[in-house]
Amino acid sequence: MENFALSQVLFQHYNEYLEKSFTNRFFKHSLIVKNIEKYLKNPYFSVFDSSLSVQEREIFAIKVGKGETKILLWSQMHGDEPTATQAIFDIFNFLSQNDELNFFREKIFENLSLYFVPMLNPDGAEKFKRTNALNIDLNRDALSSTSPESKFLKNLHAKIQPEICFNLHDQAKYYAVGKTKIPAAMSFLAPSFDEERNINENRAKAMKLIAKMSETLHKFIPQKISRYSDEYLPIAFGDFLQTSKSATILIESGFFHKDNEKQFIRKLNFVAILMSFDSIISKYFENEKIEKYFDIPLNKKEGIFDVILRNAKIQTEKEIFTADISFNKVETYDVENQCYTTKDVVANVGDLSNFGAYFDIDAKDFSPIFYENLELEKETSLLKTLIL
Ligand SMILES: [Zn+2]
Repeated sequence: MENFALSQVLFQHYNEYLEKSFTNRFFKHSLIVKNIEKYLKNPYFSVFDSSLSVQEREIFAIKVGKGETKILLWSQMHGDEPTATQAIFDIFNFLSQNDELNFFREKIFENLSLYFVPMLNPDGAEKFKRTNALNIDLNRDALSSTSPESKFLKNLHAKIQPEICFNLHDQAKYYAVGKTKIPAAMSFLAPSFDEERNINENRAKAMKLIAKMSETLHKFIPQKISRYSDEYLPIAFGDFLQTSKSATILIESGFFHKDNEKQFIRKLNFVAILMSFDSIISKYFENEKIEKYFDIPLNKKEGIFDVILRNAKIQTEKEIFTADISFNKVETYDVENQCYTTKDVVANVGDLSNFGAYFDIDAKDFSPIFYENLELEKETSLLKTLIL
């Protein structure tokens, strides 16, 4: 099947592979263990290695396939970044099924050895926080490897010596695609291995594969893909591993309007990662040009707000003036009950013509807003009257 046709089929038939036990982002390690047990009944799946987190939750490296090309993928090294973990189990479901895509599955089993670490930071996930139980950011622990979780990943990488690594994260919803006002749905990085951001064989390979994955995703989310800054960060895992024999790719799950639990972004991960396997097997991506990687627009941090009221009238004691007002919806998590509440805060007042928003509203006909209600970073009830 031609590359594009395959991605279409995966996209359209995704629901057949969806792992239904995940319904929101607050799932915990116990669900991961339960799901892994299910797959281990399948002879194609095995536990390659395992270890314990600080609070002694078991971390698994699951092996699938018996091919020559080794690929290592890990997710959720930041406990509050769970999108790709769910996609990994969707991929497990895909690999376990028996349907008209068997030709693709068999190609994967024959050509690739896949090593998945879903949820590298189970203690962080338990509290839905970035760091581990020692408050260490695992993605800043590549060199010192103080945490058992980082040690496990580093040793696992040394044992496997994979050709390609996928480091799977979530990014904040407020990144824009380059200079546009479009939120980044997916973001990629081929991390640097030195201060000069040189391109060696590994990094070039990562760039070409990203170019290919981005081309595939553009069919589903045109203009919504960006590129993460490649500033060298030697203590981060991607940068650290790019100096080894592995080409390393960072995927950041961004955000899509009205997809709060990021289930659509999860689906994009599913398609992008499976299609990357197809590209690796067929070596399609090797013909890509590195320039195509650099053509992906850079992420613009804080380029997007939750809400912008444009041309709002603001009333002071002396006059009425016109300005744009942005708001963000700050979430507070109730991890026990797997839910959250939001409060609206005023983020910015002024000319926001270079910024985008999930709710972009022309407020020129709205009644004036009193300036004392626009204190920055303070909770506001202004949006409630607009039912947003
Ligand atoms: Zn992260």
